[in-house]
Amino acid sequence: MADFDFDLFVIGGGSGGVRAARMAAQRGVRVAMAEAGGTEGLGGTCVNVGCIPKKLYSYAAHFAESFEESHGFGWEGAAPKLNWATLKTNRHAEIFRLNGVYLKLLSGSGVTVLNGYARLIDHHTVEVNLGDAATPQLQRFSAKHILVATGGRPFVPHMTGHEHVLTSNDMFDLDPFPARLVVVGGGYIACEFASIFNGLGSKVTQLYRSEQVLRGFDDEVRHFVAAEMVKTGVDLRLNAGVLAVHKTPQGLEVMLEGGGSVMTDAVLYATGRIPNVKGLGLEQMGVIQAADGAIVVNEFYQTNVPSVFALGDVTSRVQLTPVALGEAMMLVDHLFGPQAGKAKRSMSYEFIPTAVFTHPNIGTVGHGEAQARKLFGAVTVFRSEFKALKHTLSGSTERTLMKLIVEDATDRVVGLHMVGPDAGEVVQGFAVAMKAGATKTIFDSTIGIHPTAAEEFVTMREPVARSAAV
Ligand code: FAD
Ligand code: NDP
Repeated sequence: MADFDFDLFVIGGGSGGVRAARMAAQRGVRVAMAEAGGTEGLGGTCVNVGCIPKKLYSYAAHFAESFEESHGFGWEGAAPKLNWATLKTNRHAEIFRLNGVYLKLLSGSGVTVLNGYARLIDHHTVEVNLGDAATPQLQRFSAKHILVATGGRPFVPHMTGHEHVLTSNDMFDLDPFPARLVVVGGGYIACEFASIFNGLGSKVTQLYRSEQVLRGFDDEVRHFVAAEMVKTGVDLRLNAGVLAVHKTPQGLEVMLEGGGSVMTDAVLYATGRIPNVKGLGLEQMGVIQAADGAIVVNEFYQTNVPSVFALGDVTSRVQLTPVALGEAMMLVDHLFGPQAGKAKRSMSYEFIPTAVFTHPNIGTVGHGEAQARKLFGAVTVFRSEFKALKHTLSGSTERTLMKLIVEDATDRVVGLHMVGPDAGEVVQGFAVAMKAGATKTIFDSTIGIHPTAAEEFVTMREPVARSAAV
């Protein structure tokens, strides 16, 4: 490998890129990583404008209901008011700290960290702009392997007034705080931000173009969470496509396809994300891409150019941080061998757990009911819906939903879904059991932890539906 400047050159310092660079350097190979956002971009989408700041703001939003609910437990006095500037400042400080932690981890592992936009020149050469756009300072590096981990960016469809709308990237530092907010979309980001800004105090209208939000999730979960979001105050409008956005002296006017409009102070478009491939030089190298630009890879994250690999959001598969991390670790094992004394890692896309940080949260692993019926034939469904113990005194009308889907032929639990407080925390442990092939009999023989909501998953005895394949 001595003919090259580096054994591995990573383009992009996000979830996948940082993990791959660090793990490879820990194997003793020579690694460089270029991040277009400089040190403050380290950690990528998740750290800077995704999972972490989003979850911090979700915590902030949950306080609103906690203050309200505390009265039933004897707490008296008016609820404190949100100081948006303080929240933004504290979030910024924490993210800045994390950027520094990432830099330290990378440097400590021996990774050469380059601040600059990178592009591919040929199969083994990367060019990095170490200056800026105005005064470029281009430097070329050769590498045996090149990993593209450049993530994605928000997609906003073309429509009249698209220049007036915001994306999730803009929401964390909004100034002033929007008294009224329209959220367009029905996916993860739209539902999470609708819940968060509703909790923080905005009057939120969520507009979704089709019949129910969160396509791809279990249908009952979708309807249940939508109803709970409405109860918290989100004005969720279904089958509500947007025609245009106009700027008026009273604010932004969002024109609806079916007629009518909504006046607002800010419009968030959360209508999906597209791969970050612009200017990378993939086309001239003949790297095969999908219609949306996603880099096409094989099971080892290798493109059709053997020295070029890609993983994470830029491949448009499962856009989740732990998936990018898992892919990175598998790739490093594949290229440089496993860590001493450890087995080679594999990456499985079966039973990937996920949470949507709506209020209340969704936690889910495995298949929805309809999908399970299609895949496995006869399945049995267990379901529990209840008011959590906390709400017997809190005055909240929030309800919790839990659902298990069991394949009849094997008794294996193939779907587990929850809508309720900390659903992601609850579901993570059950995901381990499901990866291990846990059956309903094993769930039934597991002793619950009392009094918790999670114990319901091991005490559901009576099926609500037993159905044959459709
Ligand atoms: P990224 O993290 O996007 O990193 C790509 C990096 O490459 C960026 O830092 C970018 O600046 C850099 N880059 C791009 N082009 C170049 C170039 N040419 N040269 C140099 N550098 C370049 N996932 C979860 O699991 N849980 C969550 O709660 C969650 N919440 C989210 C909330 C929001 C609002 C968003 C937008 C996403 C969220 N995600 C969440 C998804 C998660 O953030 C992504 O799946 C993850 O960050 C993908 O990692 P990645 O390494 O593929 O790309
Ligand atoms: P999603 O793909 O989840 O949702 C996009 C939404 O936008 C869908 O409701 C879609 O509707 C709608 N949409 C798409 N195109 C248009 C259009 N032209 N006009 C109107 N509506 C449109 O994308 P997100 O941007 O919400 O999130 C991207 C990814 O990031 C997620 O898929 C997830 O993997 C990840 N993420 C994960 C989080 C977590 O783990 N908690 C949190 C946030 C993001 P339709 O369904 O009808 O196509």
